[in-house]
Amino acid sequence: MPVDLHSHSTASDGSETPARVVAMAAEAGLSALALTDHDTLSGIGEARQAADQLGVELIAGVELSLDWTAHYPAGGRPGGMHLIVLFVDDSHGPIQDRLEGLRVGRSARNRLILERLADLGVDISIEEVVAKAGAGTVGRPHIAAALVDRGYAPDIGSAFQLYLGNQGPAYVGRRRLTANDALDLARRSGGVSVLAHPYTLGLEHDRQLENLLAQLAERGLDGVETHHSGIEPDRRKTLRRMASRVGLSPSGGSDYHGTYKPGIEVGVGVGDLAVPDHFLEELRERAGR
Ligand code: AMP
Ligand code: FE
Ligand code: FE
Ligand code: ZN
Repeated sequence: MPVDLHSHSTASDGSETPARVVAMAAEAGLSALALTDHDTLSGIGEARQAADQLGVELIAGVELSLDWTAHYPAGGRPGGMHLIVLFVDDSHGPIQDRLEGLRVGRSARNRLILERLADLGVDISIEEVVAKAGAGTVGRPHIAAALVDRGYAPDIGSAFQLYLGNQGPAYVGRRRLTANDALDLARRSGGVSVLAHPYTLGLEHDRQLENLLAQLAERGLDGVETHHSGIEPDRRKTLRRMASRVGLSPSGGSDYHGTYKPGIEVGVGVGDLAVPDHFLEELRERAGR
């Protein structure tokens, strides 16, 4: 049975509750689901309870945005590096202790984004944004949803393009773990680390990507997403060969966010995902459990 090792819930910037995401995994016929909310493990308890009832294996995970300046190739204009940590203990450990600090950094940043928007004549309040997030970690997608509600953008994607994207006029960076710190923390927490959606790194040449993967593997990276809703089938094969050359395990998932990323479903992505369960078994072996 296929698995899905990358998904989001209302604990961060997904639109569906952890229990609902697990139910969708069961409906899709998956044997396992990793819930990988941004900077938080707060959805894991609810997800695990639902998974136990539905006979799906729940893998506790978290997705982190990293500062990877130390690894930039010369002359590059690098994009975002996201790391998925799987098999983390959701109660305690060195990586868990850092999540709270990352979330605090987010709230300061959200206020700065709203100030930039105000300078651009866009008037939305922090209350409206927080209402979108409910009890979850507040991120740019919630600001985007508030912008759509108020008619400043027709949809979430446009809100990123017009205002919030990395090149947008209201973009504000935030505190991040460095890649080296995150890999150390993941390892010391007993977790397995996977580089998410490698295409967002913005590396132009595969040789640059392969060099980077080799460097990160040396620093303790375990795997790389070869399968993802944003990766075409032909590209998956290329990435698997690359992963195998540098000693990384393949991983994959839908990156499901519900209505925040329309057209992507749990398990199948945009329709053709199917992550084989031997990917999970290989990662589990690396986790030593
Ligand atoms: P944040 O963690 O607050 O910086 O927000 C990053 C999140 O915004 C990503 O994980 C995606 O869920 C979402 N995101 C980033 N870029 C876009 C985009 N162009 N369109 C829609 N969602 C996006
Ligand atoms: Fe997200
Ligand atoms: Fe991501
Ligand atoms: Zn994600």
